[in-house]
Amino acid sequence: MNLSSYWVDLHLHTVLSPCAELEMGAPEIVSAYRGAGVSLCAVTDHNDIANAPAIREAAEGDPAVLTGMEIQTAEDIHVVVIFPDDESAVEYRRWLWLSLPDRENDPSIFGYQLVIDHENNIMSERDTLLVQGVGYSVDEVASEACRMGAVVIPAHLDRPSFSYESVLGRVPDDFPCHALELSPAVSHSAFAEWRERYPDRVFVRSSDAHRLSEISRDRCTVMRLAAPSFGEVRMALGGMEGRSVLNPWTWSP
Ligand SMILES: [Zn+2]
Ligand SMILES: [Zn+2]
Repeated sequence: MNLSSYWVDLHLHTVLSPCAELEMGAPEIVSAYRGAGVSLCAVTDHNDIANAPAIREAAEGDPAVLTGMEIQTAEDIHVVVIFPDDESAVEYRRWLWLSLPDRENDPSIFGYQLVIDHENNIMSERDTLLVQGVGYSVDEVASEACRMGAVVIPAHLDRPSFSYESVLGRVPDDFPCHALELSPAVSHSAFAEWRERYPDRVFVRSSDAHRLSEISRDRCTVMRLAAPSFGEVRMALGGMEGRSVLNPWTWSP
């Protein structure tokens, strides 16, 4: 098996996230990843998956595009979940939305929530506010995702809000997840402290891009994979069959 180093970004927002800029359309996101030389991205809008197919269709394989979402739990903790396929993503969203409060979005306050196609045609607009906590706890959100074969990553652990650390403290060693995410703001020396705090966890660095200028290699992670795909990423996070995640803060080409 020939393994190569691929740049991957497992956290990205589109125009479906009200907080993302309207420039986060399908062709624009694809161009940004191609320009940056990033081979795989996961579309992770808040509490929804609807724009992943548009980005994937626009990308035509470059970059590879995974379907995910960034869930806001009942405790207001952000968790990135990435699905093996669109069927499981739809099933999970159906389960998640059973507990999504019926609160209407006000675009003048929060921004637009647009479902687009691969040419940025607006297909629909989400009426229910997506940036709010669902009814499930962080344990329920993670366990259900694991049960469906998804990858679970507590988001931006270093941030002072909406992170597991800021709400509940240290992520327990038995919490069901595949990696911990740190934001690109984390320095070399700060990373060493995170490493010490979680000696047995895998860390990823993700862009959490809300605008095109936030898509770049220095906001991503390098993985050793046979190909840029969900299955390979999952193996790398588990350190299986030679696949691996390279320390994003010390690795250089
Ligand atoms: Zn977040
Ligand atoms: Zn995010």
